[in-house]
Amino acid sequence: MPVIFQLKQLLHEDVKTEGKLTPEELSLPEDDECIKMTENVNYTLTASRQGSQVWIIGKINFTLDCICVRCLSSFKMPIEIQYSEFFTLEGEESIPIKDDSIDLTNYIREDILLNYPQHPLCDRNCNRFPDQPVRNRENKRGSDAKSESVSLAWSELDKLKLD
Ligand SMILES: [Zn+2]
Repeated sequence: MPVIFQLKQLLHEDVKTEGKLTPEELSLPEDDECIKMTENVNYTLTASRQGSQVWIIGKINFTLDCICVRCLSSFKMPIEIQYSEFFTLEGEESIPIKDDSIDLTNYIREDILLNYPQHPLCDRNCNRFPDQPVRNRENKRGSDAKSESVSLAWSELDKLKLD
C-alpha cells in the first residue's frame, strides 16, 4: 500500500507507520539483468511536522536478487536504508498535497533505486575472475554497462581457458 501521511493528524502528533510495498506497486525498472526485486519492501517510518515542513525518519528494508558481475552466480543482497528526509509543504520544492495527505511512495522508490548496487558482487572479494577496471561509470544503470560487465566476465573466462 502507498506510504501516505495525513497532514491534519501531523498537526497534533508524530505519526508512525509500518507496512510493505510490493515490487508491482513500486514498478521498478526491469532492464537490469543483474538486479531484480522479487520480494516486498518493508518500511517503518515516523513523520514529524514542524510548520510547513515534515521530517520523515525510519528504516526501509528489502532484499534484491542479484547476479554477481564477476562470477555470474546468483545471490540475495539484503539492503537497509536509514531514511531521513525533510519535505516542505510550501514553495517551489514542495511535495504534492492531495486530500490533505502526502504520498511518499515515489520518493521512497527513488531512494530504493539510489541504493541499488552499481556492480553487484556475491562477495566483496569475489575473485573468481581477475579484477577489471570499471568502465562506463556514468552509464552504470544502463543495459550497456550490464552487458559489458557480463561480456567482460566471459572474455576473462576465455582467457583462463587459453592459459
Ligand atoms: Zn561472485
